[in-house]
Amino acid sequence: MPQPQIITLEEHFTSPKLKALRGEKDSPVQRKLDDLGELRIAEMDAAGIDLQVISENNPATQNLDAETAVKLARESNDILHEAVRAHPTRFAAFATLPTPDPKAAAAELERCIDKLGFKGAMIMGLTHGRFMDDRQFWPIFERAAKLDVPVYIHPTPPMQVVQDAWFKEYPALAVAPLGFTLETLTHTVRLVVSGLFDEFPSLKIIVGHLGETMPYLMWRTNYLVTERMKMPRAFADYYREHFWLTTSGSFSDPALTCAIAEMGVGRILFSVDWPFMPNVPGRQWLDAAPLAEQDRALIFGGNARKLLKI
Ligand code: MN
Repeated sequence: MPQPQIITLEEHFTSPKLKALRGEKDSPVQRKLDDLGELRIAEMDAAGIDLQVISENNPATQNLDAETAVKLARESNDILHEAVRAHPTRFAAFATLPTPDPKAAAAELERCIDKLGFKGAMIMGLTHGRFMDDRQFWPIFERAAKLDVPVYIHPTPPMQVVQDAWFKEYPALAVAPLGFTLETLTHTVRLVVSGLFDEFPSLKIIVGHLGETMPYLMWRTNYLVTERMKMPRAFADYYREHFWLTTSGSFSDPALTCAIAEMGVGRILFSVDWPFMPNVPGRQWLDAAPLAEQDRALIFGGNARKLLKI
């Protein structure tokens, strides 16, 4: 079997019960989220994407009560596993974790990796308003480090009090145009300063949207956090060692150039954020981006093959 050359890592679906629970209405985007077969593969083929690493759509099971979250996460992962079995050369999977019950989430991660062959997990931001640096969630990271799989930290809307204070007059800004980025940026910086990576020195984190502005902020955040927070190592050292960034929904040459300059080309992974973003413009953008061909191939798939052991 030839190795996949073009791999994307932030590509979503919705399992039927979570869709029903959220009362999602029919729409062209929802029809794509519902599909784990022909429609999805046709859109991958149109852009020459060999392999999608698929994940349950935000907020997955993270805002449910613990018991329901455990049940529906397991069902979601089993559905995704069936899709990967049906299309093993085209689909791979990130686990959905029932974070309201961290111990059960760690066990579900292990089941997904060891029994179902998943490549890692995706965490959809906040769990009932709590960031993952809260020590109650560390059993999940402990298990990910032990299993040597990455955890993808994905955006979710900021907590209501933040939305009210910052976005009440402009609700459209609360999600993808700005709120998602601020929530995830805050999330990832909190992970670094919490000491998580001192506790789990082999832990690997993936962040979308070219790092949610972190590469652009790196010098200033590194300078000030390192000066003021008395951590064992510099902020940027933790970030560059533990984080990988994807291009999901962020098809910008200047942002890519900045991300490569701060992180190194080995830490950048192609992704689309399908179906919220279209595959073809993502592919065309990276085809034309100002890169050496060797680096382009790493970003398109070489780095992902190494990180996800494909
Ligand atoms: Mn996404």
